[in-house]
Amino acid sequence: MEKKTSILLIYTGGTIGMVKDYSTGALRAFNFEELIKNIPELDQLDCTLKGVSFKEPIDSSNMNPQYWALIASIIEANYEENDGFVVLHGSDTMSYSASALSFMLENLDKPVIFTGSQLPIGDLRTDAKENLITSIEIAALQEKGRPVVQEVGLYFEYKLYRGNRTTKINAEHFEAFASLNHPPLVESGVHLKVHHNYLVKKPLKNKSLVVHKEMDDRVAVLKLFPGINQEVVHAILNIANLKALILETYGAGNAPMDEWFLQELKMAIKKGLHIINVTQCSGGSVFMGHYETSEKLKEMQLINGKDITTEAAVTKAMYLLGAGVQGKLFKTIFETPLRGEML
Ligand code: ASP
Repeated sequence: MEKKTSILLIYTGGTIGMVKDYSTGALRAFNFEELIKNIPELDQLDCTLKGVSFKEPIDSSNMNPQYWALIASIIEANYEENDGFVVLHGSDTMSYSASALSFMLENLDKPVIFTGSQLPIGDLRTDAKENLITSIEIAALQEKGRPVVQEVGLYFEYKLYRGNRTTKINAEHFEAFASLNHPPLVESGVHLKVHHNYLVKKPLKNKSLVVHKEMDDRVAVLKLFPGINQEVVHAILNIANLKALILETYGAGNAPMDEWFLQELKMAIKKGLHIINVTQCSGGSVFMGHYETSEKLKEMQLINGKDITTEAAVTKAMYLLGAGVQGKLFKTIFETPLRGEML
């Protein structure tokens, strides 16, 4: 008899497993067993399901690099005996976590699918059941004895996206995520429609999984706005020990041409700060040199974030710094797609 596909559920918390605390009216996390009891349909799935839970499930606003290392360790410890992983996670920071794990899990050749919901599993109109059941079905998809998805994905409201391409775009709609620079990998309708061309392709003889747990948090994000003043820019660029700054610029990577602004950037780069040019737009790419307003940034050797999301840029910077990448090499590697996170 053929062995059933084995999927490990990793429960970190989030709305999906929350209940209302009637004394305060606020939602708080409850335990994994309760969550699973609410979905009797799981017994009908044609795969073996096991579960691991955070001791204290969290609202994902409390997510941090230590928790990412914990998720990575759970996957590492259970990698051989499982065919896929589904991570139940709050939607608020899910794109950050999916991006972080994509960098932390080098040579991944099994699915790691992040999912959650906008309404708790016990709610009558919940989106949790569909999200969870379909995530498991996608994680269990196999072709010629190999998993169909061999990367970190994020499944929400009928679509599987590449995790490190997503952004949370809506705090209310069931369609809470978008991936504007990369099409969905799988769409769920009457059938599961797999877009093979958009999936990361792994060699038949893939190298073994390498798990990187060191993430360096000496990173900041600066979003430009008309009227931003020198005091603010100077303070951020001169934060003690800051190693990398994600500069959220306008449109195709444009910034003001004020001399003070350019001088502040130049000084910071000279002192060794890695500045990454990422667009504030949800879709499209940085194209330094296209306009006069980005020509100077190009001359200054700002790192080109191309079409990366801020979530992926933050976590990629943490990952590279954690791996001890320094000097010019940081720019070279940052500008190279490592996990399909940029063009
Ligand atoms: N605040 C919740 C969280 O991110 C929201 C959600 O799960 O959708 O944990």
